[in-house]
Amino acid sequence: MEKCPEHPPLFTFGVIADIQYADLDDGYNFTRTRRRYYRSSLQLLKNALESWRESAVKPKFILQLGDIIDGFNKSHDASDQALDTVLTEFSSGPAEVHHVWGNHEFYNFSRSALLRSRLNSTLHSDGILNAAPADSEIYAYSFSPVPGFIFVVLDGYDVGLLGREESSQQYKDSLSLIRQHNPNKDLNSPVFKGLEERYTMFNGGFSKVQLDWLDSVLSSADEKQEKVTIVSHLPVHPRSTTPICLAWNYDELLSVIRSHSCVVCFMAGHDHDGGYHRDKNGGVHHLTVQGVVETPPDGNAFATVSVYEDKMELKGCGRVRDRVFEFPQNEGNITKAMTDLQIN
Ligand code: ZN
Repeated sequence: MEKCPEHPPLFTFGVIADIQYADLDDGYNFTRTRRRYYRSSLQLLKNALESWRESAVKPKFILQLGDIIDGFNKSHDASDQALDTVLTEFSSGPAEVHHVWGNHEFYNFSRSALLRSRLNSTLHSDGILNAAPADSEIYAYSFSPVPGFIFVVLDGYDVGLLGREESSQQYKDSLSLIRQHNPNKDLNSPVFKGLEERYTMFNGGFSKVQLDWLDSVLSSADEKQEKVTIVSHLPVHPRSTTPICLAWNYDELLSVIRSHSCVVCFMAGHDHDGGYHRDKNGGVHHLTVQGVVETPPDGNAFATVSVYEDKMELKGCGRVRDRVFEFPQNEGNITKAMTDLQIN
C-alpha cells in the first residue's frame, strides 16, 4: 500500500496516450524504424488502470490523449470490436475518462460517427462547462473537476483531411492549404524542410471558430483566476516534439495561449517518443506523453498528476519521466522561473 503524502494534493488525474490497440501481431511505424506492439498495448493499459485503482488517492479522471485504437483495425473490419475491447477495459478503471481524438480515430470512424460515439466525452461526462458551437461539429470542450481548475480538450483535426467528406468545403479548404506546402503525391509523406514537415495528412489544425472559442474560455478563466490545462492530440510547441508531429497552425494556437495568464500546462500525444519544453513566453509547460503502442511489453507508459495550489507533480511510469510543473503566477515569478531555467 502506497504511503499517503504529507501534503495531500487537491486532486489527481491519470494520463495515457497513443494506445493504438489492435488484435494484430507487432508491426512497424510508417518509416519502419519503430516496432509497434498492437496487442500488448491492451496489457499496458491494464497496468495503468490497476495502478490508478490501487493508488492511495484515486484519480478524479483520466485523460486519454488520442489514437485509442490503431487504423489497421479498419482494414480488418475490426474497428467496433477493438474500440469495445479498450473501452471495456477503461470502464473497469476508478474514474471517468476524457477522450481526445487523434488521426487513428478518423482512420476508423467518420467525424459524424465519432460525434455520436462513446468517444464523445461531452455526451458521457459530468461537469462539462462549455463546448464549441454544436453546428461547427468541432469536438472541443472544457470541464472543471474542482473549483478553480479548468481542463480544455481541443480538436486537432478540425482543419484537416481526415474524417471529412471529400465533397465538404472543409476538406477542399484543407486540401488547398496542405497543397501550398506539400507537393508529394502521397500526402502522408512529408517534405523534409524543418517545420514544413508538419504539413502531412496525419496532422491537422484548429479553425478560427475553435481558436475564438478557446480565446473566450481562457478570457473567462483569466477573470476568475482559474488554472487551465489544455489537451490536444497534436503538440503545438515546436520544442516539445519533432516537427513531423506538430499541428499545422501551431503558431496561431500558441499566440492564443500566450495572450492569457490562466494557462499552466499543455498536454499532447501523437509523438510516441514524447517531449517537454517550458515556453519562454509565458512559462506554460508543454508536455508530449510517450505512446503506449511503441512501448515494449515489459515496459509502461502512463502518468499520474497530483495537483496543488501552486504546482502539478507528474509521476511517470516506465518511459514517462517525473516532472514538476510550477504554475506561472505573475510576471515576476515567470521571470524568476526563466532565470532558474537558464542557470540550470
Ligand atoms: Zn496520432
